Amino acid sequence: YVVNCPQDKIRDTDLTIEQVDDLNEDIAELVANIVKDPYFSVYKVDLSQDRCPFVNRDGICGNHACAIEPIDEHLPEIWRSPYLGKLRDNSVSTVAPADSLEGCAPEEKSIYAYLGRVSDRHDYCYPEDESDEAKGVWVDLNDNIERFTGYSGEEAHRLWRAVYEENCFGYNGDDYATSTGASLARAQPMAVTDHSAMMSMFADSIERGARGVDEREPLPLINQDDQCVEQRLFYKLLSGMHASVSTHLSYDWLNTTSGYWGPNVGMFVERVGNHEDRLNHLYFNYVLVSRAVAKLANYFELLSFSTTCESVDTEVRRHLWRLSRRINKYPRGINETALFMTPEGRALKDEFRRRVRNVNALMSCVGCERCRLWGKMQTAGYGTSLKVLLELPERPEDDPVAVREVLSSFKRSELVALLNTFARISHSVESVGFFRRKVADKYGYS
Ligand code: FAD
Repeated sequence: YVVNCPQDKIRDTDLTIEQVDDLNEDIAELVANIVKDPYFSVYKVDLSQDRCPFVNRDGICGNHACAIEPIDEHLPEIWRSPYLGKLRDNSVSTVAPADSLEGCAPEEKSIYAYLGRVSDRHDYCYPEDESDEAKGVWVDLNDNIERFTGYSGEEAHRLWRAVYEENCFGYNGDDYATSTGASLARAQPMAVTDHSAMMSMFADSIERGARGVDEREPLPLINQDDQCVEQRLFYKLLSGMHASVSTHLSYDWLNTTSGYWGPNVGMFVERVGNHEDRLNHLYFNYVLVSRAVAKLANYFELLSFSTTCESVDTEVRRHLWRLSRRINKYPRGINETALFMTPEGRALKDEFRRRVRNVNALMSCVGCERCRLWGKMQTAGYGTSLKVLLELPERPEDDPVAVREVLSSFKRSELVALLNTFARISHSVESVGFFRRKVADKYGYS
C-alpha cells in the first residue's frame, strides 16, 4: 500500500499525504537540528512506575537496549535550578496567579503554584516536573534515541490494549479484536475516569485472559465514519502514535543474529505500510502537531524561555520562529476551532482531556525503560499539542483570561516534549518515504 498512497487525503484535514511530505522535506532537517540543542535534549523524567495505575505492573525488560543512560553526574550547572522551569507567561509576572505561594520569589510564583499538579481544566498530560525536589533522572535524549529494543510479547500487547481501551467511544480499535488481544479488546467500554477503576479493569482482564474465556458480550464494532470528529481524533492519536513507534523501531532495527542495525522493510510493511488506516493516522498526527507548533508562535511574545540566561532565550526564540514561519508557509491543514463546538462535542471535552491524561499515565507501566521514556515523552507531546490547540485561542487578545490561565502553568518540559514529539513524527514521515522507495524499487513501481 505504501507505494500508492501519496495522492490520498489525510482524513479530517485539508491536506494530502503528498503535501505533508513536501512540508516535511522542507523542515525535517531544521526540526532534527533544533532537538539537538541541549535546551530541547536535556530532560528530567520520572521513570518510576509510581503513576502506573495497575497493581500487576509489567515486568522489567532486561535487554541492554531497554536501558537508558542518565546524565545526573555531568549535569551542567545551567540546567539546574533556578534556571529550570522558567518557561512562563510574562504577563503573569505583574499579576501573580490566585493560588501562588506566599514567600516565593516573584519570578517563581507561577511555577511553584503548579508544581506536581495537573490542571484538570487545561492539561492533557502529567507534565514532567524538573524542580530539584521532584523525583526523576536527567537524560540527554540524543544519547537515548528511540529505536528497536526487543520489548515485545504479552506485556507490550497488554499495554497497547490498555491504551486503546481508553478509547471510550465504543470503537475497539483497528484490527485488535481479531488479533492477540481478543478478550481485552472486546471488554465493555468503560467510563474510566480514575485509576482505581482502571486497576480493577486491568486485573479483571488479565484473569479472564488467563482463563482463556471472555464472558462479556462483544462490543459492537462502530465504523469510524459514524463517529463524530472528536471521537475519531482520540482513536487517531493513539493509532498514529502506535504507527509512529512501529515505524521507528522498524527503521532503527537490530538483527539479533548478525548484530546489524538498520531498516527492516518487511517489519514496516507488516506493521504499518500494509495498513492504510495506520498510515493515515500517522500523517494526521503530523498535521496536528505541526499546527500546534505553528500556533504557539502567536504566543512567543508572552513567553520567556529563560529568565536567567538571555542568550538561551534568544537562541530558543530564533529556532522556534524559523520553524513556525516555515510551517505557516503551507496550508493550515486542520481547523481546531471547529472541534468540541457542537453540544455533543462540548459535553465530551472534559472526558476527552482526562482520557488523554490516562494514556500518559499508562506509559509509566511500560516495562522497558527506554520505551517508557519515549512513551511518556510522546504522550506528553501530543498532550501539549492538544493544550495549545484546544485551550488557547487563535491570538492572545481573543481571550486574555484563558490565555493567562493556560500559560501560567506552561512548563519547559511541555515545550521540550512538544518539539521532540514533532521531531519523532517528522522522522516517521521521512522513514515512510524511505520504505516507500524501497518497496517501489523491489516491485518495479515508478
Ligand atoms: P504491537 O505493536 O504490540 O501491536 C499489538 C496489536 O495492536 C497488533 O497486533 C494490532 O492488532 C494492533 N495495532 C498495531 N499497530 C496499530 C496501529 N497503529 N493502530 C491500531 N492498532 C494497531 N519496542 C521497541 O522495540 N522500541 C520502542 O521504543 C518501543 N516503545 C514502546 C512503547 C509503548 C508504549 C509500548 C506499549 C510498546 C513499545 N514497544 C517498543 C513494543 C512495540 O510497540 C511492540 O509492542 C512490539 O514490538 C511487538 O509488536 P507486535 O507486532 O507484536 O504488535
